[in-house]
Amino acid sequence: MDLHKQAANLIKTKSNIVAFTGAGISVESGIPDFRSSGGLWERFDPNEYAEYSAFLKWPEKFWTMHSELAELVSSAEPNPAHQALATLESMGKLTTIITQNIDFLHQRAGNSRVLELHGTGETATCLSCQKQYERITVEKMLKSVIVPRCPDCNGLIKPNVVLFSELPPQDVFEEAKRALLGADLVIIIGSSLSVYPAAALPSLVIYTKTPVIIVNEEPTSLDYYADVVINGKAGEIFPLIIKAMSEL
Ligand SMILES: [Zn+2]
Repeated sequence: MDLHKQAANLIKTKSNIVAFTGAGISVESGIPDFRSSGGLWERFDPNEYAEYSAFLKWPEKFWTMHSELAELVSSAEPNPAHQALATLESMGKLTTIITQNIDFLHQRAGNSRVLELHGTGETATCLSCQKQYERITVEKMLKSVIVPRCPDCNGLIKPNVVLFSELPPQDVFEEAKRALLGADLVIIIGSSLSVYPAAALPSLVIYTKTPVIIVNEEPTSLDYYADVVINGKAGEIFPLIIKAMSEL
């Protein structure tokens, strides 16, 4: 039986699917993996441009990198893989997406429960008074300044993305763990499972013996355990899986 059909067969009987997604799912939306060659971290050393203490020391460096990132994200659209996950939710199969991405493309595709392990660029926090700001508000500030500051207390404003040397939000991490433990199928997409601690989460399935489908360009550390592994572009593979489901 072909791999798409095997995946379709597994999905067909499930109603609490959890998807775990990484940078690979957004590459086809025009957001290169930051770690890949040509990615953001090749030109902006993350230790200087995206590390927490560096942000406090040189916020102007972070915001220089950020403007390039923001441009990439704002011009990106959900691709057929994002759309397939929204379809699986509307079919009553998929309940949760756990993502390492900060691009908001799952929400834009229509998924309602998205746990963002590396935070979100949609909101920001004043590091002094903790006031929350919407992305749009910060973007307006950026039109006249290089480093946006809190109008209330002049504190530094930082997007709610997890910087290097920052821990992922613990409440989100715990919620993701609970979702994985309750899942009847886990689909891992576009993550080589190499960025810790987030990448350790999917390996919980080994203890719960949950079935796993992996769709990724490269091999992952969980391939040996997975029921179905399909190597290739998620945006091409998922429409074939959805089609195979309709033919079962
Ligand atoms: Zn403030």
